[in-house]
Amino acid sequence: MHPFTLERPRDVATAMMLGARGAPATEYIAGGTDMLPLLKDEVLRPERLVAVGAGVLDDRIELGRDGTLRIGAAARMTDVADHEGVGETFPLIAQALLAGASPQVRNMATLGGNLLQRTRCGYFRDVGVVACNKRRPGSGCAAMDGDNRMHAVLGGSDQCIATHASDVAVALVALDARLRLRSLDGERIVALEAFHRVPGDAPQVETVLAPGELIAAIEVPAGAALARRSHYLKVRDRVSFEFALVSAAVALDVEDGRIRMARVAMGGVGTKPWRMPRVEQALAGARCDGTAYRAAAERATDGAVPRGRNGFKLDLMVRTLVRALEIAGGQA
Ligand SMILES: Cc1cc2nc3c(=O)[nH]c(=O)nc-3n(C[C@H](O)[C@H](O)[C@H](O)COP(=O)(O)OP(=O)(O)OC[C@H]3O[C@@H](n4cnc5c(N)ncnc54)[C@H](O)[C@@H]3O)c2cc1C
Ligand code: SF4
Repeated sequence: MHPFTLERPRDVATAMMLGARGAPATEYIAGGTDMLPLLKDEVLRPERLVAVGAGVLDDRIELGRDGTLRIGAAARMTDVADHEGVGETFPLIAQALLAGASPQVRNMATLGGNLLQRTRCGYFRDVGVVACNKRRPGSGCAAMDGDNRMHAVLGGSDQCIATHASDVAVALVALDARLRLRSLDGERIVALEAFHRVPGDAPQVETVLAPGELIAAIEVPAGAALARRSHYLKVRDRVSFEFALVSAAVALDVEDGRIRMARVAMGGVGTKPWRMPRVEQALAGARCDGTAYRAAAERATDGAVPRGRNGFKLDLMVRTLVRALEIAGGQA
């Protein structure tokens, strides 16, 4: 492992000051569940780590009187999943969290770190592989003609087709979550859907975060009625401790057997958590039945580009979405 110093700042201002300096090369660390493997494998070689767990960043989980959910970035996955208010009001979030990783990882991992976890593309995580534009800009992409069974069919470019691996990000995107970002310049709010970037010609730039900027909190707007008829369905190679091949987050507002409004996002298929506006439009006003679900779900693959071994994902996307809609919406 490349040697580094570990800074434990007493407050967020000091953390941001350390993080914003260009040198030495600095990375933040929270629960460390993604960062440590990347350090051990020398995928990342920072000179300095700045700890931003609880004590530096907020870890509170609060359900406001207006129904808004606010989650401090340092809140642990376990604590959010187990929170009574989250389970009752936003079960989609709890389901997505519990579908991810293992209890041990969830006990360490924070929500901020989860949204910023790096891709599971094997070529990215193996420094023995030369061609990876995300790890070494301009070096090529080994996945393009290699083992791309897990890779993205939406949002890719000829530079990179790596998926974003977070489960809870998919649920949060479906629920219109926004992030409070903090830097030495102050605070700004960014919609989670606009936070992650598609690779384009710069796959190494994964988010809109500025150098040194932190995720301070995640906010989910009120929408209890919508969020209660919801389901997160994750399809993977084994039943636990595995990343999604395809996942679907669905939240429906249903009245008299008809869908008034739908929120849909998918994971395991895009280079970022992928919102599905065309599916949502097709569902709005439709009856809760299998024919409508199927017709809407087929819109999910609009614009999809399969590469080599991941073509099976197109059919799997439609079937996963139909099943998630059946569970969330039932049959009229
Ligand atoms: C074996 C295994 C299986 C897993 N399976 C799944 C799965 O099925 N689904 C899933 O969603 N996830 C899965 N994960 C990923 C896991 O959820 C993440 O590793 C975890 O959420 C990262 O959180 P952390 O606090 O440990 O982040 P760290 O590892 O500490 O940090 C991750 C990244 O976030 C940055 N960072 C952390 N907090 C902040 C902040 N507040 N502001 C700015 N930057 C920040 C760090 O600099 C780093 O780049 C798995 C992980 C492992 C090890
Ligand atoms: S898909 Fe992206 S992360 Fe994977 S090898 Fe290609 S450039 Fe690297």
